[in-house]
Amino acid sequence: MPTRSLALYVHLPFCVRKCRYCDFNSGPAAETVRVAYLDALRAEIRARAASLSTTSRIDTVFFGGGTPTIYRAFDLVRVLDLIAACFHLSRAAEISIEANPETLTPGKLRRLNGGGFDRLSIGAQSFADAELRMLGRGHCAADTVRSVVAARAAGFDDLSLDLIYALPGQRPANWLRTLHRALRLEPDHLSCYGLSIEDGTPLGDDLAAGRVQIVPDDDHLAMRHATGAICASAGLRRYEISNYARSGRHCRHNVVYWRNEQYLGVGAGAVSYLDGVRARNISDPFPSAWALRERLPRLSCSVYA
Ligand code: SF4
Repeated sequence: MPTRSLALYVHLPFCVRKCRYCDFNSGPAAETVRVAYLDALRAEIRARAASLSTTSRIDTVFFGGGTPTIYRAFDLVRVLDLIAACFHLSRAAEISIEANPETLTPGKLRRLNGGGFDRLSIGAQSFADAELRMLGRGHCAADTVRSVVAARAAGFDDLSLDLIYALPGQRPANWLRTLHRALRLEPDHLSCYGLSIEDGTPLGDDLAAGRVQIVPDDDHLAMRHATGAICASAGLRRYEISNYARSGRHCRHNVVYWRNEQYLGVGAGAVSYLDGVRARNISDPFPSAWALRERLPRLSCSVYA
């Protein structure tokens, strides 16, 4: 019986479009590339399981991105089924998937929940449409509301919303309106991140050119402090720097990182931490996908700690 508890992160790096603030390992790609990537990912899962499945039990799985739900539910459930077939997947495993509202339909949500995903994290980011446009998001606030309602109807009883505060031009009152609208949807978990504007992104270019300004420190602090108090009064307690949850609804996968416990990452740029060694797969998804098509080895990774 495997004795080591592992968290498994699955990186799906593709998105409908690139958001204006995003410097993650993600972006749009043709469907042929997305399909080839899934083949490469499945090959990597089998290879990793061959060396780890006898010693390790998977207690949490997190499909992150990117926008995992750019794929059909059928494809995502197939990857999850492969994980269950190759690894010892705990019966009580937490199985999360990240999603963006524009990629969700009631049917897809039902198929994901029925296929084993029991925790959904929706990238809402803001409930002000002007802010969503400034961020380059592909959805509006009404799409997020529809997604939450459909997710609950589909059976997701563990639901998280991602929000971003300290946006250029945002005042504390604007942020509090977004926060209150999010809380009215009664999420079990909220992630509230202060925006960091990165060089090399369109928003970073706007900042360098003086077209936008960062939020003054006092406003940033006011938003941050108010967030904790308002979430607590709504029954969501802060359990790490940016995350708030109802009792028992903290993200178990997330906590593994904070406790410096062991995890395996599969997919482009995914990080693993096993037996005291931290390693990262090559970041670019395209060589991985094409290497598989050309039957070349692809499991190169860099060890950096
Ligand atoms: S959806 Fe997420 S990962 Fe994709 S571009 Fe936008 S912020 Fe980046």
